[in-house]
Amino acid sequence: MPQLATRMGNAKPSAIMAVAEKAKKLKSEGRDIVSFSIGVPNFLPGEHVYAAAREALAKDSGQYGSNRGADALLDAFLKHIEALGFTGYTRMNCATGIGAKHILYNLAEALLDPGDTIAYAVPFWTTYADIAEVLGAKILELPCPSSQDYKLTPAQLDAALATKPKVFLFNNPNNPTGMVYTRDEIAALADVIAKHPDTWVITDDIYNTMVFDGIGYHNFVMLRPELRDRVIFVDSISKTYGMPGWRAGFIAGPEVVAKALTVLNSTHITNLPEVVTAAAVAALAGPQDVPTAKRAEFQARRDLVVATMNAIPGVVCPKPQGAFYVFPDISCAFGKSHKGVKIANDVDFCNVLLEAKGVACVPGSAFGEPRSLRISYTCPEAQLPVGLERIREFFAELA
Ligand code: PMP
Repeated sequence: MPQLATRMGNAKPSAIMAVAEKAKKLKSEGRDIVSFSIGVPNFLPGEHVYAAAREALAKDSGQYGSNRGADALLDAFLKHIEALGFTGYTRMNCATGIGAKHILYNLAEALLDPGDTIAYAVPFWTTYADIAEVLGAKILELPCPSSQDYKLTPAQLDAALATKPKVFLFNNPNNPTGMVYTRDEIAALADVIAKHPDTWVITDDIYNTMVFDGIGYHNFVMLRPELRDRVIFVDSISKTYGMPGWRAGFIAGPEVVAKALTVLNSTHITNLPEVVTAAAVAALAGPQDVPTAKRAEFQARRDLVVATMNAIPGVVCPKPQGAFYVFPDISCAFGKSHKGVKIANDVDFCNVLLEAKGVACVPGSAFGEPRSLRISYTCPEAQLPVGLERIREFFAELA
């Protein structure tokens, strides 16, 4: 029988989806499950998005579209990022893809040869490692434990960039930690990046509108415009507008990179579908009341989750300022047992918690931090206190 390509030996399915699948299975067997596992928004976009999609369907050309993305979509994205604080970008700086995941894959393909190094902070969104591994890139992990609020320091970045990785991949607000870098922290990291001209910088900032406590969203190029010729900003409609299934992602960056993604689109996908394009334009250019309301709601949920976790003796729970994740260090439970079942590590913890209490969380090791677990708090509102109370009980029952 013929064999798969060698590179598929390095490819693996998402660890997050594995937990979500197990929770789904238990639910289908009649178990009462609270899912804190998958990172999806719990809301749908405004009616104007559906109206735009319906109108596009009625007027559908049925034809292939632009490899870069329709002009109307690029223009809506440009307006959107101007409101975020990015100035001076044109359509030639932009490209679209089937969600940020596809964009990140294409960027890795465009920027990394096999054996090149990609550096990123740990904990990291699982897909970063999956992409690097399938493309045969080397990974330089920069450990950022809970003791440093899971954030990269300028000294750490300086030491990493001194080794001249081809790409530094940065994620702010962060999945899985929810941490957001302040303006001063971004400025200090931007100063370091400016010292090391041989590295491309990807900023995967798709949670940029989900920032709490008034600290705002900041990007390296806003503080140091000279970095624009090697910083690539990645965005998506998935989280901001409650549209993860619609699949539209974007970059704003150097023209040469936007052109490379356009060429890859012509090889892989040709174009985003017309209906998706119209819906994305409506989301980006239309009323922003849904994301604004969700930001306030998620900030309140964050407060509840952090307060609950920090009230559990031994748990260390840094307070995130964005996205919709909390990432407590639960290593105090390792070596203990729940009703006779031993918990040696984060994977055991999540399995026993799911079996015993019906609460699904993702083990931190999926994100490179095995002392922690990720709580995604976008579940239906009434379930949040229920799930948190079950976690509290679970800890109280450990012996
Ligand atoms: N980056 C991060 C940090 C994410 O959390 C996700 C989705 N979980 C993505 C990128 C991919 O988003 P999209 O739905 O646009 O592919």
